[in-house]
Amino acid sequence: CFITLEGLDGAGKSTHVRWLIDEIRRRGISVIATREPGGTPLGEQLRQMVLSEPMHLKTETLLMFAARCEHLQNVIEPALAAGRWVVCDRFTDASYAYQGGGRELGGAMIETLEQWVHPGLQPDRTWLFDVPLAVARERLAHTRELDRFEQEGSAFFERTRQAYHERARQQPGRLHIVDSTRPIDVVRADLAQQLGALIQA
Ligand code: C5P
Repeated sequence: CFITLEGLDGAGKSTHVRWLIDEIRRRGISVIATREPGGTPLGEQLRQMVLSEPMHLKTETLLMFAARCEHLQNVIEPALAAGRWVVCDRFTDASYAYQGGGRELGGAMIETLEQWVHPGLQPDRTWLFDVPLAVARERLAHTRELDRFEQEGSAFFERTRQAYHERARQQPGRLHIVDSTRPIDVVRADLAQQLGALIQA
């Protein structure tokens, strides 16, 4: 089972990822936790570049997919083939949201790259952690040093959030919106219940 986690920076993804992995293990399932951009030594180098260095939008998009290609070949596909579960912090929906929406590249080029890099492979479940923009900004203000995406203005994040919502409307069976304004334990109870259903499926 391939699970991806998405959402704006500050929406609560990182608060839940560790818990989610432990919860899956607690149910006796072998699972790996990984992230994008990154997940492999080369992918982590690409992450460093893409997060720190200003670059052309097409370059940024290609580097995201380059990191993803390495990640799929070396980590995700072998794990799935071995019958393990994979939980990935961000995947191609983030490209639709950030490059496609936030940076206004649009979806067509992302779709072409998606077809090229992972034809036929989609996450089985994507949880989109969602909070209004003001809440995400407020939460981010209290955390670590911000990368160059996180320093963008509100309009960028509003477009990014809208693009995530558009993905959720297009693929409601796979992409579930998790209202992340709720208390942490309420969100976890919701995820635990959905996890139970996924295991049964
Ligand atoms: O989720 P995490 O904080 O690790 O993401 C790192 C950064 O990369 C975030 O600021 C996110 O906005 C950005 N990103 C992006 N496009 C992607 C994936 C991540 O702009 N396709």
